[in-house]
Amino acid sequence: MKILVLNSGSSSLKFQLFEMPEGQVLVKGLAERIGEQTAHFKANDYEVSRPLPTHKEALQLLTDYLLNPDNQIIKDKNEIIAVGHRVVHGGNTFVQPTLITPEVKAKIKELFSLAPLHNPANLTGIETAEQIFPKAEQVAIFDTAFHQTIPIENNKYAIPDTFYQEGIRKYGFHGISHQYVSRAANKRLGRTDTKLITLHLGNGASATAVRNGKSYDTTMGFGPMNGLIMGTRSGDIDQSIIFYLLDKMGYTSAEIQTILNKKSGMMALAGSNDLRDIETAARQGDEKARLALKMYAGAIQKYIGNFTAQMNGLDAIVFTAGIGENSDVVRRMVSQNLDYLGIRADLEKNKDPKTYQGDITAENSPVKIWVIPTNEEKEIAQQTYTLIH
Ligand code: ADP
Repeated sequence: MKILVLNSGSSSLKFQLFEMPEGQVLVKGLAERIGEQTAHFKANDYEVSRPLPTHKEALQLLTDYLLNPDNQIIKDKNEIIAVGHRVVHGGNTFVQPTLITPEVKAKIKELFSLAPLHNPANLTGIETAEQIFPKAEQVAIFDTAFHQTIPIENNKYAIPDTFYQEGIRKYGFHGISHQYVSRAANKRLGRTDTKLITLHLGNGASATAVRNGKSYDTTMGFGPMNGLIMGTRSGDIDQSIIFYLLDKMGYTSAEIQTILNKKSGMMALAGSNDLRDIETAARQGDEKARLALKMYAGAIQKYIGNFTAQMNGLDAIVFTAGIGENSDVVRRMVSQNLDYLGIRADLEKNKDPKTYQGDITAENSPVKIWVIPTNEEKEIAQQTYTLIH
């Protein structure tokens, strides 16, 4: 059974076609710069640059590629039984994979205000797929859904209750990734009554406390700026800074948004949001880069302490996403000086986790430390398959 997974951004469309339940990837690719003068389309080893005015032309191009007899992928569009869509914000409404209906689409639209950069693009992807694959089941998988198990004491802010009633609360993000790697970690542990901390460290970054397979707390909140230091986002700051910028320094609300979202984090500290550049600069003695790495790892350690205390213990830490999977420097800095919590990495294994099946735990460490590559698309395919099967 073939399931297509779509992740639609405002000017991009990432896709993977899976053979389920095996999980085999038949096609993987993306369309970028949709709506610009020239877009770029890549599917497996086929690449083309040409205008793609909307997502519809991008998805049509993918369909042509799939149907092309030379590629031997599908003979008929209807072989694609379902399309699984990543949808960023599910609010309080969506806690499960959800079959898309007109009501579901209306609700996703209502949530535009909570995720103005993402949900509109996600809905465009859904509506386009409905047109191009009218016979396929359309399924939404929400990035917030995994965090809906966070107990009220961890999702409520200490501000007047009316705001909570209005939906101002911690939602958390990267849920699909945290769910995928936490399930993989529980499989390794051979049980589900576990206490985990999953660290999704990509351009955006978040840490999640996962207790008994369920999200218990997470570092992102109402929006995706809170918590850890990220590529271009500040992570935790004192909210009085915002009022100072607004009232005393004359910045507009839009400018402050841009500063905290696009000009902060590692970009502000070290002049780049690419961790590889920062590591190189730090090796060459650049003080700003060194400080940036120290602060980056320190922010993660603060939450490891916080979450371990909340769960009253810890079985494993999981590193994932671009930085978590690839940066031995960050993993080393995060894992050091945590012996008190029973966290000790083997620094040799840390340099080459693949050789050790991602297990970089030191022999005398009670807490496991694992590097587990995330695979949000596979998780979406699996959840879609389970729903329609
Ligand atoms: P996104 O959130 O955009 O999906 P990724 O998960 O791809 O991001 O992570 C991007 C980050 O991973 C960038 O900061 C990049 O520098 C970092 N990264 C990728 N490969 C390496 C590597 N080999 N060493 C260190 N950092 C890396």
